[in-house]
Amino acid sequence: MNPVGKPGKTGSLMPVETALARLLEMADATSILERERLPLAQVQGRVLADDLLSTLDLPPWPNSAMDGYALRMADWTGEPLVVSQKIFAGQAPAPLLPGTCARIFTGAPVPAGADCVEMQENAQVQADERVAFTEAMTLGQNIRPQGQETTVGELILPAGTRLGPIEQGLAASLGCAELDVVRKIRVAVLSTGDELIEPGQALGPGQIYNSNRVLLCSWLQRLGCEVIDAGILPDDLVTTRARLGELKNVDLILSTGGVSVGEADFLGIALREEGELSLWKLAIKPGKPLTFGHFRGVPVIGLPGNPASTLVTFALLARPYLLRRLGVKDVEPLKVQVQAGFDWPIAGSRREYLRGRLESGRAIIYKNQSSGVLRSAAWADGLVEVMEGRTLVAGDSVSFIPLSEVLL
Ligand code: AMP
Ligand code: MG
Repeated sequence: MNPVGKPGKTGSLMPVETALARLLEMADATSILERERLPLAQVQGRVLADDLLSTLDLPPWPNSAMDGYALRMADWTGEPLVVSQKIFAGQAPAPLLPGTCARIFTGAPVPAGADCVEMQENAQVQADERVAFTEAMTLGQNIRPQGQETTVGELILPAGTRLGPIEQGLAASLGCAELDVVRKIRVAVLSTGDELIEPGQALGPGQIYNSNRVLLCSWLQRLGCEVIDAGILPDDLVTTRARLGELKNVDLILSTGGVSVGEADFLGIALREEGELSLWKLAIKPGKPLTFGHFRGVPVIGLPGNPASTLVTFALLARPYLLRRLGVKDVEPLKVQVQAGFDWPIAGSRREYLRGRLESGRAIIYKNQSSGVLRSAAWADGLVEVMEGRTLVAGDSVSFIPLSEVLL
């Protein structure tokens, strides 16, 4: 039994879907349109700007899937056949002489006139070097027909495809040496908070090391963004205004911290003065406060400062937003259904993304799910999604978002 508790007090909390839909709508309205042409080896992590159509049949000619013998089936009457030619991959064969067979190797073109390839294991070379076949054969067996993978003009990869090793390999198989990709989106990363200092410095009273900066900068680089590392912003209005004003030629300002209703929300004040700002209270945990606004026309996303909240809101909201601005259609992370390996007796009013890992196919969760504990995510290999209002007993089905899926 899978008890579904009362929805709980969601009050004015915004469902994750609503926030995502709004972000994607804004992303669609501000797609990055500029493109660049890059050598195939350099397109990893980038987004294809145009549909990629095949200019070739693949394979370009019928070829052998086996090491063996090519023959015309009608020529096989039980009498051994003379081997009239030997065809290696990379060679151009002569048409098959009637009444003979050809020695052929994997990937070699099938000679005109042959309609089947028999593997060498089913062939017996006689003392006179003629070849007898021991098994029944079928027309076309072990022949990879011309165009079985693609034919000329076929759509191979649609515009908006994220390019990785497989797409690069596929484009190479079609002979593409270069591809047009969407230019990188330029993201300025700001960490806010008087308490923050950078690793390498001695920790003073009340201070903590800035973990969000490197987390986000490195993640954004993996996503194929150009990162403008804008450092730490102190909790001070004058500096906030000045530092925001220095950010030229960026497509997004991504900040962390200072978005709780706290008095130290100087980013919010600066945005209201020179742009606009929506403060969203999301039905998500960790997370909840999220800012979307504009500063002098540049979109700003403000993520909550607690590191696990930063991670979850980036994965579920900022990442899809960024990918959509680059023209990617399917931006939501893959969710797989797994069994809960834990009980969740108290339904929450917010959707929880528990840092968990799979053990024997069941999701178990880190012992401390505090939003300040980034270690939970290092231990985890995914986010276990527990819907608002839901309780669980071990064995119930839950969604699991592999972190490997969102980190790229
Ligand atoms: P805030 O949203 O500014 O109220 O921050 C919420 C919590 O996250 C506080 O405990 C902050 O100290 C912490 N925090 C904010 N920014 C960072 C950061 N860049 N690295 C680590 N912790 C942070
Ligand atoms: Mg702060």
